[in-house]
Formats: sequence, structure tokens, C-alpha cells
Amino acid sequence: MSGPPIFNRLALIGVGLIGSSIARAARAQGAAKSIVATARSAATRRRIAELGLADQVVETNAAAVEGADLVIVCTPVGACGAVAQEIGLHLAPGATVSDVGSVKGAVLRDMLPHIPAGMHFVPAHPVAGTENSGPDAGFAELFVNRWCILTPPPGAQAAAVERLAAFWRLLGANVETMSAEHHDLVLGITSHLPHLIAYTIVGTADELGKVTRSEVLQFSAGGFRDFTRIAASDPTMWRDVFLANKEAVLEMLGRFNEDLSTLTRAIRRGDGETLFNQFTRTRAIRRGIVEIGQDSPAPDFGRPHPDLPHQPLPRPYAADD
Ligand code: NAP
Repeated sequence: MSGPPIFNRLALIGVGLIGSSIARAARAQGAAKSIVATARSAATRRRIAELGLADQVVETNAAAVEGADLVIVCTPVGACGAVAQEIGLHLAPGATVSDVGSVKGAVLRDMLPHIPAGMHFVPAHPVAGTENSGPDAGFAELFVNRWCILTPPPGAQAAAVERLAAFWRLLGANVETMSAEHHDLVLGITSHLPHLIAYTIVGTADELGKVTRSEVLQFSAGGFRDFTRIAASDPTMWRDVFLANKEAVLEMLGRFNEDLSTLTRAIRRGDGETLFNQFTRTRAIRRGIVEIGQDSPAPDFGRPHPDLPHQPLPRPYAADD
């Protein structure tokens, strides 16, 4: 435990990979005096209790927020608006409401109208994750040395924003603040588009009649394996991300298609110089990412290093990432 708890009662709505990681990390760091949790299904609620992730497991979202001074909605983005509507009138005076959604503009639009005056609404996105889902998938170190982006709406109380930032810092994250719109543009290119490409390429390989499925699996180390890991990310979460961040993703996809056409043309014309220049440029970008500590130079096939059990996953943003 490091210092006094930042919040008295933390309510987690949705306890999958992210919610359960917050529960574990908040416990480990003593970030909240008590934790109350709920999830949509009885099976998940039972599992939360079995794993001992919360002091109290309740059946409804409304019951979860009663008396809580921090409420974090950890459901897929598409459910955030309905959850906010359910909890709005049950919030304790002065409570801070946050989320962990991978898209921020849509969350702001859907949740804000249901947060009554006198409450603090500070959306957040921990840029950390894995391709796994559910309460068993989480771990306390998930956020260590990862970014957590806060997107407070205009007029948000600075003290409330700082208190939530302190909470995330205690969980090990580095905190950055930006507008929801800017967040969606940045994550559109760094996370959403890569996931779309992974989902596409793995589907294309699967449909390729001349290459058998066993050959795809056998030779997957040739670059394909990391795509399969990303393409194993939760279908509900990612459906919601693309529906919610439509504009930014379409903008990035347009640029991507143009660049892909340039490389296609270079291959067709045998223009090695264009290919070489592009690959040299991207190699420098990769080296820059390693230099600022956002990835390790070691190959990453989706598992933490066995000799370093507490190492945060060595990847820039896997699934939510
Ligand atoms: P997850 O493992 O699938 O967990 C989702 C949780 O939300 C489950 O406990 C689910 O309950 C619950 N839930 C779904 N709809 C609900 C509702 N209407 N009311 C109450 N609970 C509901 O998902 P996750 O990976 O933790 O992702 C959660 C959020 O974090 C998403 O918004 C995602 O964009 C964001 N995020 C994800 C990552 C990542 O890498 N996965 C990274 C950063 C941010 P049941 O189990 O009962 O269905």
C-alpha cells in the first residue's frame, strides 16, 4: 500500500479484462478503501466473487454506484450511454464518473447528458490491453508504464481531473490529457486502423484457397503471427470501436488506401527505390518507438516474458487497446 486511498468507494461496472485489472491494481496499491462491482451476467458476477476482485458484488448498475465517490464504467463503448442513464439518478453527490472506452467522442456524447449537475465526468482511456477478455484475463500490472488518456469535457473541475489522474498514476500509468476529438484521431491511426488491417489480413489468408490453413499456421512466424493475435481481440468491443469512431477511422483508412496504392504501383512497376525509401522511413519510426520505451526490441508473440512475471506486456497497444 502506498499512501492513503484516493477514493473511498470505487464502483466498477463491467469487470472484464480492463475492469478486473483496475480492481486488482487498485487493491494492490490501496487506491480505494473499498470496491463494489457488477457485470451484466450472473455468471460474470459469480466469477468476480470467486476471484475475490471486489469487497461487494451487486446485481444492478444502479446498486453499484450508491455511495461510490468514483464510478468507472468498463463495458464496451456501445453500452456506455445506457449504463449512464441507469446510474445517473443513483450517483452520490460529488461523485466522479469515468470510463475506459477506446473511443472518447461517442462516450462523451452518450454519457454526459445523463450525469446530473454536481457530479464530475472525466472520461479516460488506459492505452493498455491484451487480446483476452473477461475477469480472469486481467492482471494488476496491466497499466504499469502505459498511458492513460483523460478527456475531460470543457468546464470539468480541475481538482476532479487531478484526483482521477492521481488514481491512474497510482495504478502505474502515465497520464495525458487531451480533447476527445483529438484522442479519437490519434487512436484511429495508432490502434483502430491496425486492428482493422489485422482483422482483414487474417480473414484474407483464411479465404486463400491455394494456401492451406495448415500452411498458414505452420509458417505464421513470417509476420502473420502478430496479426493473428491482434485479430483475436474481442469482437463486441471492436465492433463498437469502429461504429463509434467512424469519422476518424474512415479518414485514416482513406489515407492508408492512398499509400497502399502508391506501394502497389511501385511493386507493379518494379520501382525498388520507392519501396526502399518507404521501408527505410518506417524502420526509423520503429526504432524511435523502442527508444522512447514504448516497446522492447525483443520479438513479441503475444505473451509476457516467462522470466519476468510482473513485466507489462511489451507491446505498444494490443487490443484497446
Ligand atoms: P470485456 O473483457 O469483454 O469485459 C466487458 C465487461 O462489461 C464484462 O464484464 C461484461 O459483462 C460487462 N458488460 C457488458 N455490457 C454491460 C452492460 N450493459 N452493463 C453492465 N456490464 C456490461 O471487455 P474489456 O476488454 O475489459 O473492454 C472494456 C472496455 O475497455 C471497452 O470499452 C474497451 O473499448 C476498453 N478498452 C479495452 C482494452 C482492451 O485491450 N481490451 C484496452 C483499453 C480499453 P458480462 O461478462 O456479464 O457480459
